[in-house]
Amino acid sequence: MKKKKMVIIGAGPAGISMAVEAIEVGISTEDILVLEKEEVHSWAIRKFYPEQKVVAANYKGKEAICYGVMCLTDMSKTETISYLDKAIKDYRIDVQYRESVFGIKKTPEGFIISTSKMSYRSDLCVIAIGIFGKPKKPDYQIPRELKDKAHFDVTSQKIENQSILIVGGGDSASEYAQYLVQMGNQVSLSYRRKTFQRMNEVNKKSLLALSEEKKVQLYLESNIEKIVPHDQGIEVCFQEKEQKNIFCDHIVYALGGSTPRNFLQYVGVSYDGEEPHIGEGYETNVPGLFVIGDLSSGKKGGSIISAFNSSKQAMVKICKEYLS
Ligand SMILES: Cc1cc2nc3c(=O)[nH]c(=O)nc-3n(C[C@H](O)[C@H](O)[C@H](O)COP(=O)(O)OP(=O)(O)OC[C@H]3O[C@@H](n4cnc5c(N)ncnc54)[C@H](O)[C@@H]3O)c2cc1C
Repeated sequence: MKKKKMVIIGAGPAGISMAVEAIEVGISTEDILVLEKEEVHSWAIRKFYPEQKVVAANYKGKEAICYGVMCLTDMSKTETISYLDKAIKDYRIDVQYRESVFGIKKTPEGFIISTSKMSYRSDLCVIAIGIFGKPKKPDYQIPRELKDKAHFDVTSQKIENQSILIVGGGDSASEYAQYLVQMGNQVSLSYRRKTFQRMNEVNKKSLLALSEEKKVQLYLESNIEKIVPHDQGIEVCFQEKEQKNIFCDHIVYALGGSTPRNFLQYVGVSYDGEEPHIGEGYETNVPGLFVIGDLSSGKKGGSIISAFNSSKQAMVKICKEYLS
């Protein structure tokens, strides 16, 4: 498992500026890793900003004062992306693209960060995933009557002692299966492929062990055609003619993506009402785990400069508490 001093999740303005601040105080570039789920950095800016937009430094009337290394004046969308691009190049920031983070676990030896590709160990972990995450939905319609029985995570609603079908074959599918078995559920899992290539070794082993113990029933090479309401809950119909329909109380989709709130709760960050619990220097209730950028901005919303400033403040706290 690769070991880093700091792993940053998300390569938007917050994640990139966090790496810059860390390098500026002397953490070596080799000791910092940024994980980005898309194939490019600053995905939200690229996706949501109109091409002709003027990127305002004082967005939503926020003060345009920068406390850290990175700063912005009013500029075009292209200039903004180029500025972030240049920071990655100039500081030789190691950004791993197409690497989605599914889980963060705090252990006595530091954080274990599980991604779609592998696991990393780090002393410090900074979450900078913004607020635009969305779970992927299946191609078929979910009937209105089944809306409260179809889930896209396992944290929004407690599911105990029920029969559940998980759909998916990545790390979150395995992690959901392990968790739902522990909660006394009868679990099955439908995956379109023959083997679990996207899962890390630990999750694959755990899932296959549960299958051998008959705690999880696997339906490999199965593709769901539709789900329909039934007196026994949900009837699941498959495209494969030889696969009989199955019945379950709930269906949990693990097709990738996650809402930021669920992501934070899943990794152990507590919530004060609607907002994640964030203390001095953007540290969460989990020591060494920081949440910066839009995700820490609350209802008033964030801006690029406030994302940059949150990195600076997090770095001040890290220097005080964690670096000699
Ligand atoms: C339409 C629109 C216009 C705006 N205009 C302005 C403006 O003019 N000026 C201004 O200052 N601000 C503006 N903003 C706000 C600004 O874009 C945000 O405040 C800023 O992008 C927040 O940066 P961030 O790094 O926190 O999050 P984001 O920019 O959302 O970046 C998060 C990154 O994390 C990645 N990610 C998400 N989940 C994972 C995961 N599980 N694993 C790995 N990577 C992950 C995402 O792909 C993304 O690249 C605007 C916002 C919108 C929507």
